[in-house]
Amino acid sequence: MGKLTDIIFKDASGANESNRVSYIVRINSLMMCCYFIIWIAVFGISGKFVSSGMCLLGLAAYAFSTRLTYKGYNTAALGIYSFVTILWMLLFVIQWGWDCGIQHFVFVLLVLAFVGTYRSFKEKLLLSAGVFLIRMLLYIYHIGHEPVEVLSKPISITFQIINIASVFFSLIVILSIFTRDKLATEAKLAQYNRQLKKVAEHDHLTGLLNRRSGMEETIGRIMRGGFTTGLCVAIGDIDHFKHVNDTYGHEAGDEVLKSLAKLFEEYMSNYGIAVRWGGEEFVFVFDDINLDDAFVALDSLRHKISGLEIYWKDIKIPVTMTFGVTDVNVNTASTDDIEKHIEQAIDEADKKLYIGKESGRNKVVI
Ligand code: GH3
Ligand code: MG
Ligand code: MG
Repeated sequence: MGKLTDIIFKDASGANESNRVSYIVRINSLMMCCYFIIWIAVFGISGKFVSSGMCLLGLAAYAFSTRLTYKGYNTAALGIYSFVTILWMLLFVIQWGWDCGIQHFVFVLLVLAFVGTYRSFKEKLLLSAGVFLIRMLLYIYHIGHEPVEVLSKPISITFQIINIASVFFSLIVILSIFTRDKLATEAKLAQYNRQLKKVAEHDHLTGLLNRRSGMEETIGRIMRGGFTTGLCVAIGDIDHFKHVNDTYGHEAGDEVLKSLAKLFEEYMSNYGIAVRWGGEEFVFVFDDINLDDAFVALDSLRHKISGLEIYWKDIKIPVTMTFGVTDVNVNTASTDDIEKHIEQAIDEADKKLYIGKESGRNKVVI
């Protein structure tokens, strides 16, 4: 069974086509090969060797069509498949009339026109119109002509059962491959969307939220509300970072940013969020906390930063940061107001940060 699925799903697709078309055409051609083998046996047993020989030709054509799918010629394969199927339906109707149930195969062709090709919608409609025409012509022929051979009731029932079962089996296989392919495509798309969203929302160097998504996240937190104490924001800036870059190189500077971001992520998971605001500046949002407690939390973070062991080529890089912190007015209704209040609070925190820088750095200014 595993070998059979390996053969059927062996990678093969024409230019600009997914494997779906190959699989659908291939499996249908293979099924028609099996179908013809049954007819060769049925005609052979009943002594109709000419019919048996014709079925052998049909079998060869379907086998050739299957072979073409392995070479990526799906359109040619589908063309041969459709041509032999139409010819087969016509011969059946001429020989045994409408009672053999062969006309149901047009529905397989109709579905193949839509899911077995990568054509434009207009072309697919044209193909369906062609299939409809074939069905009508078969019907008109059948009205005007008596069949060469009138089938006995048991034979007619056998023909009907074989043909209806084959048509249903074909349709189920086509639609299940199509559904499987579509679900796989949707899952892939959802995964790409998640990846894209992650890339768009996060800073690529540190993995922290970027400025835009940090602002959106903060607005969202305030909108969801539920704070009893309020919300505080702080802005922190690395001290003498230019000196770090100048002394150890830009890559060492990047390493410092990454190490700090890791610490911020861990530390802020108990409080709120850390955002890379830009360059060597970070914004910290503290949920449901008063200004005094935010100060204490930030001062503890400041101690952790100065105690960090950041090494670059075995040399320890000392890092300190200065912070300004303030609280945000969260008693507002509209998103625009909230955004304005957050921006005002960050401006205020930035002024305090400046005071911290002026008065010696490595401190939290409240
Ligand atoms: P201060 O204590 O006053 O903040 O001094 P500073 O040297 O940190 O401040 P300044 O604004 O003079 O320099 C900031 C430096 O941060 C300059 C810039 O090259 C560096 N920087 C900004 N973004 C990045 C980055 O992504 N990677 C690295 N390696 N450096 C960065
Ligand atoms: Mg700066
Ligand atoms: Mg700085």
